[in-house]
Amino acid sequence: MRYNKALEDIKIYEAGKPIELVVREFGIAPEDVVKLASNENPIGTNPKVKQTIIDNADKAHLYPDDSMFELKDALALKYGVDENNIIIGAGSDQILEFISRILLDEHSSVLMSAVTFAMYEIYAKQMGAKVYKTASFEHKYDEFMEAYNMYRSKIIYICTPNNPTGDATAKDDVYKIIKSVGKDTLVVVDGAYMEYASAKDSRYTIEPKDILELPNVIYLGTFSKAYGLGGMRVGYGIANREIIEQLYKMRPPFNISTLSLASAITACKDDSFVKESISLHQEQIKRYEVFAKDNGIKYIDSYTNFITYIFEDSIDSTKISNELLKRGVIIRNLASYDMNAIRITVGTAKQNDIFFKNFLEVI
Ligand SMILES: *Cc1c(COP(=O)(O)O)cnc(C)c1O
Repeated sequence: MRYNKALEDIKIYEAGKPIELVVREFGIAPEDVVKLASNENPIGTNPKVKQTIIDNADKAHLYPDDSMFELKDALALKYGVDENNIIIGAGSDQILEFISRILLDEHSSVLMSAVTFAMYEIYAKQMGAKVYKTASFEHKYDEFMEAYNMYRSKIIYICTPNNPTGDATAKDDVYKIIKSVGKDTLVVVDGAYMEYASAKDSRYTIEPKDILELPNVIYLGTFSKAYGLGGMRVGYGIANREIIEQLYKMRPPFNISTLSLASAITACKDDSFVKESISLHQEQIKRYEVFAKDNGIKYIDSYTNFITYIFEDSIDSTKISNELLKRGVIIRNLASYDMNAIRITVGTAKQNDIFFKNFLEVI
């Protein structure tokens, strides 16, 4: 078979390992597996969402409301924007895919930081576009502008806070990049972890309503992290009407399920769950900072629900990850990003205890 040539250069995305795999491969009981690998909300399913799923259980035979009006209305209220400024996707991942498709071809390029969300590159390559990266994982203005002036990329990705490093870009610096590029370049502000950054320091908050005045920016948000709906696959893009209209041309009908839609509506209206998630997180992430300092491990100051530990040459992140896995502790090895580092999703107090205990044993 002669496949699309663009595919030759694509590395398949490797998702965090599921609990089932550790159970199968190492014979560990599911209740003893601790998964801190995919930045899921450790509190679990919001009880109100659980009730919504039960209430909607007899609607599986019906297509969802394809206008998604109620969800857009809830998001519009939350962010102070208009429903016309919003598009809903099967995760914000799907919006990333739409963005690539409306802008890229084999003559164009995208620009991103050295270590960032892997899907930006994959979606760009699917379109045959070139991928350029800056030297640093931080979003540094000078590095972005130097590369931009050379390549005139069609899309610039600013992942703030950044996954998998956890650092964030101050609002002023994000705006500086946006204002310095041409109107024909779309700046994608991926705010998958914005709730955590905002709670830590408001200078990092990007308000979607503020970017609507700009012609070439889209803000992405997701229900997968602070809202605890990773399994439901709901995300959104907020931009001016022109961009949203073009994105709609890529959207298949009924792109999220009836239960996902109902769950997201409930989650969106329930700020208390997000507040509770963030306060647990803020209390627990301190333990990871103290633990790192006590054990002489370098970490990146985190604005997300995870923390990245960077190792000296004497410790190998792949070995550590494999040893932890055998003990039923799943974390994310960053070797595939050329970093001798691991990314740990901050869990519940109990999950974190188990991580600390096993980590000390393996090092
Ligand atoms: C998790 C994540 C997303 C979106 O995830 P979905 O589950 O597809 O909404 C987007 N960007 C980054 C950086 C993420 O970490």
